[in-house]
Amino acid sequence: MSITFRPQIKDLAAYKPGKPIEDVKKEYGLTKVIKLASNENPLGCSPKVKEAITNQFDQLSLYPDGNATSLKEAIASKFAIKATQVLPSSGSDEMVDQVAKTFIQEGDEVILADVTFPRYLSTTKMMGGIPVVVPLKDFSYDLEGMSKAITDKTRLIWLCNPNNPTGTMFTEKTLIDFLEQVPANIIVIYDEAYREFVTRDDYPMDSTYLLEKYPNVIIMRTFSKAYGLAALRVGYTLASEEILNEINKIRGPFNVNTLAQVAAISALEDEAFLQESYQVNVDGKNYLYDTFKEMGIEYAPSETNHVFFNTKKDANEVFIALQRRGVIIRPIYGSYARVSIGTMEENKIFIQHLKEVL
Ligand SMILES: *Cc1c(COP(=O)(O)O)cnc(C)c1O
Repeated sequence: MSITFRPQIKDLAAYKPGKPIEDVKKEYGLTKVIKLASNENPLGCSPKVKEAITNQFDQLSLYPDGNATSLKEAIASKFAIKATQVLPSSGSDEMVDQVAKTFIQEGDEVILADVTFPRYLSTTKMMGGIPVVVPLKDFSYDLEGMSKAITDKTRLIWLCNPNNPTGTMFTEKTLIDFLEQVPANIIVIYDEAYREFVTRDDYPMDSTYLLEKYPNVIIMRTFSKAYGLAALRVGYTLASEEILNEINKIRGPFNVNTLAQVAAISALEDEAFLQESYQVNVDGKNYLYDTFKEMGIEYAPSETNHVFFNTKKDANEVFIALQRRGVIIRPIYGSYARVSIGTMEENKIFIQHLKEVL
C-alpha cells in the first residue's frame, strides 16, 4: 500500500522564490548583486526597530505572547479601531492561508483576478474551491467584471489594492460601488500590502471605516514592505470580532514571534522612517518612468514599490541576462516583468544593464 495525498494538493506547485543574492554571486562569479525582485524596502528598516529587538535577546527562551496583546493595542490605537478587531499573523501570507481554511469549502466558487498575488489561487485550490478567474483590464482590477461573476455558489472574493505585480490601484468610489453589489454572505478579502506607497488621493487610505458598513470585509496589511520587516514575518488583519474569533480557532498558538511583535510596535512609532521610504520610492518611480519613456518601454502606472513593464522580449530571457550581470528582477508572464524600486543607485545600475540587455 502506498501513501496518498489530498487530491486538492496534487496539481499545486510549490512557491518558487527568486534566488538569494549569495547564490547568484556564486553561480556567476559576481561580487556585487542587487535584488529588485521581492519588493523589499531598499532602506532596510527603522533603526528604532533594531534597538527594540536587541533588548529582547534575553527573552529568546520564552514563548511569545500568543495573544500579541501589546501589538494589537498599538495597531488599534494607531488606526482608531478596537483591539478586538485586530489579528496579527506571521506575515499576511499566513493570513491568506488561514482565511482560506476558515471559509472555503469543496465546490465553493472563489473569485480572483488573473494576474495578482499567487497565494490567492493556490490556497483556494488547496481547500477544493473553484477559482473563477476574472482578467485584469488595462493591468487593473475589473471590479465590474468581478461583480458580474458572482453566483449563488460564490463564497469569497480576493482583492489586492494596489495590485501586485501590476502596481495599479482602484479608487475608493470603485471599491464602495463594488461592495454595494456583493451579497452580505460573501467574504471580501481586501489586501493592502502596498497601501503605504500610494500617492493618489482617491485611494481609500482609511479603509477601516468600511468594516462597520460591510462586516463581510477582511482587511489585510503587512510590515514586510514599507516597514521593511520581511524577514521577521509579521502582518495583521482587521475584521469583525465574529470573523476574527473563528480564525483564532485555527491559528497556531504562537504564530507571531516575540521579535516580530516588538519590531512591529516600534516600526509603527517611527513615522519618519515610513515617510523616508515613501519619498525614496516616489523619486525612484519617477526616475524609472522617465528612463522607460526615453527607452520606449511601456509600463503600468504604479501606486506600489514596484513597476510592471513590457520588455517586448521573452521576459524570462531578459531576467536571466540581467541576473548574469548581477541584477535580479521578476519575470511575470510573456514579455512582462516586474522590477522593485530600489535606492537611486540600484535603480541606475538596473537601467544601465537593462539598456545593454535589450
Ligand atoms: C508581499 C505581499 C504580501 C505579504 O507579505 P507577507 O510578507 O507575508 O506579509 C501580501 N499580499 C501581497 C499582495 C504582497 O505582495
